[in-house]
Amino acid sequence: MTKKEKSVNQSARAIIRVTGVVQGVGFRPFIYRLATGRGLTGRVINTSGGVEIDVEGPAGMIDGMESAIRQTAPPNCRITGLEQAAAPPAGYTSFEIGRSDGNSQGWQHVSPDSCTCNDCLEELFAPADRRYRYPFINCTNCGPRFTIIEDLPYDRPLTTMRRFEMCSDCRSEYEDPADRRFHAEPNACPACGPRLWLADQRGADLDAVDPIQEAAAALAASAIVAIKGLGGFQLVCLAQDINAVERLRERKRRPQKPFAVMVENADDAAAFCQITPRERELLESVERPIVLLEMNGTVMMPGIAPGLGRLGVMLPCAPLHFLLMDAVGEPLVMTSGNLSEEPICRTNGEAVSRLAGIADYFLFHDRRIISTYDDSVIMVAGGRALPLRRARGYAPLPVELGTAAPAENAVLATGGQLKNTFCLIRGRDAFISQHIGDLEDAETLLHYERTIELYERLFQVYPEIIACDFHPEYLASAYARERTRMPVQVQHHRAHIAACLAENRFPDAVVGVSFDGTGLGDDGAVWGGEFFLGSLKDGLERMAHIGYMPLPGSDAAVREPWRTALGAVWQHVPDRFDEAARLMQVPGDRSASLRRQLEAQLNCPPTSSCGRLFDAMAALIMGVRQISYEAQAAMELEALALAAYGGGVAIEPFPFHLDTGAYPYILSPAGAVAAALSGGLSGSDPGVLAAGFHLGLSRAIVKTCRTIAKSNGLETVALSGGVFQNRLLLEMVMDGLEQKGLYVLSHVQVPPNDGGLSLGQAVLALYQSRT
Ligand code: ZN
Ligand code: ZN
Ligand code: FE
Repeated sequence: MTKKEKSVNQSARAIIRVTGVVQGVGFRPFIYRLATGRGLTGRVINTSGGVEIDVEGPAGMIDGMESAIRQTAPPNCRITGLEQAAAPPAGYTSFEIGRSDGNSQGWQHVSPDSCTCNDCLEELFAPADRRYRYPFINCTNCGPRFTIIEDLPYDRPLTTMRRFEMCSDCRSEYEDPADRRFHAEPNACPACGPRLWLADQRGADLDAVDPIQEAAAALAASAIVAIKGLGGFQLVCLAQDINAVERLRERKRRPQKPFAVMVENADDAAAFCQITPRERELLESVERPIVLLEMNGTVMMPGIAPGLGRLGVMLPCAPLHFLLMDAVGEPLVMTSGNLSEEPICRTNGEAVSRLAGIADYFLFHDRRIISTYDDSVIMVAGGRALPLRRARGYAPLPVELGTAAPAENAVLATGGQLKNTFCLIRGRDAFISQHIGDLEDAETLLHYERTIELYERLFQVYPEIIACDFHPEYLASAYARERTRMPVQVQHHRAHIAACLAENRFPDAVVGVSFDGTGLGDDGAVWGGEFFLGSLKDGLERMAHIGYMPLPGSDAAVREPWRTALGAVWQHVPDRFDEAARLMQVPGDRSASLRRQLEAQLNCPPTSSCGRLFDAMAALIMGVRQISYEAQAAMELEALALAAYGGGVAIEPFPFHLDTGAYPYILSPAGAVAAALSGGLSGSDPGVLAAGFHLGLSRAIVKTCRTIAKSNGLETVALSGGVFQNRLLLEMVMDGLEQKGLYVLSHVQVPPNDGGLSLGQAVLALYQSRT
């Protein structure tokens, strides 16, 4: 035996500490198999800081552990830290999976819920299996996680599974290191686990022998069924049943906003949508988001996405979805179980009281949900995945900031008013909450406060800095003032750009384009068409903006785009006010009173909002008089423009003028407003006009960026704000900037809309409180 062989075979002991997403993902069984396979003894335990591995045996075998862990870890785990230290011999005789150490110091990541794995699916549809058609099947690689965790460490007694005592079969799987359910905390079977039942609209159990088959039969008979999904109730009906869809719209008070559709697999989606390889990959990913897909023109589902060219599609996620899809055999509308914009229902009791007038039946179960969890929404733009709503499958995994933020203080940023999320930063991790919703009612506010408490507890963050929006009347800002006397106020559009820089870990100066619907500006105006210059560290200075126009009636104008259009015309082409009113068929008395309001400047806040410019365009070009959901006019205008681009007609870009006389530069849309008006009056094809607006605006954005970048020696542009959910505009701007040699940063982890705001607030507040 050589000297080297001797030392390799010498007995040694090491403690390996692993942090990251390592609990609830089959990590300990994996370590068990790895260690025993190498002839090592010792133990592995969950700690509240991660997982601790204590191994003893031949030094050569211990040495290889680290790389083996990194290279062969289970699919859902994400390792962020791995430290190994030598330890004195302990004389272990076997390898064991120990209990959790129960130590409440430290913290750990929490795994999101993940889609049923292929092994479980096989069992689910195997008649001989003891879990055949059992809707709560799961294993160490799949199943509920975040939605059932009450506290850490992740062990059954601290989840909502604690009330289900495992039967002897389940327990022996749970205790057998060779079993794929070894320490699967939500492990269950029909004998011992949660139960599913069908109830009528009053919530009374119908004693169905097979609740799923009977729910499927009800759906086939045009019923609306509320099902208890992973993160709350979902309302379901047949997607191709126009009567059911219309009834659902009426009862849910959601007249036009698009519904998402669930199909059995990606090939089924291809029957009515175009799917790129990247989109297919996202559809089939374990996160199972809703993916926005271009419809291929086959009208199979009228009423699902009226006036739009894109459809939200998802594949089954939980076993209940797989079973239901299998029983129904056709696409289902799958929408959040709530009335209009209220939060999604979480408990059976809530569902009965709040969904009583909407659902004809309920599919209930008795596993409690801790965290409500909407479906996530993603689209692919310019080949990159762009999140529009970050929830199930993604939260509460943190966004890693690297050195993009100083890791000094813990921060809570309370987010915006609409599409709210909050953000907790601790060290280099930014925990952005799942989509909370619009903070406009007591119900949502309660959900918001409860979720902040849960995150602070789970991740043990004790915020030293509290940040909020500049707008004092946002409920999230009021909440921040409850927590501290002096929250750090961050201007809305700067927060958008900061979010984009932070998630891209971009430390240097950029030109930031922050285009959205509404946000309070430094000067008290309603901003939303802003160009900034600067960095996270040095702050962002406003360099240019879309020229102001009055917003007559403020919120009323948001709901009725014709008002905004008349405000734009009054500002930019005042002598054509009456023509514009005629074009949009505004009754004479109403246009006259609006004119008086504009002249008196009564409740006419100035705005640079690009979202409002879209509204004005949609009103002039398409005659959109009223909208029923946020950004509806802009989405319809985009769909129209996209169709025109496909038609091969020459597109004339609408004119914009950049006035560089003084800072901030003014990007005037006067020419575009005039072009829309003239085009509308001369009866031009609305699609061609819509495309002309998109083309003109994208060129104006590119030109403005280039002007600012050039005079400041910069080569990077960051794009953020809800307007960049417009894929056509986003792709045209990206292409244009890249053609001019500019590098583009866009969102990939958090939404460009207000769902990403909290991240930007948190990071800017960290820097601001430093100086
Ligand atoms: Zn599984
Ligand atoms: Zn069992
Ligand atoms: Fe915004």
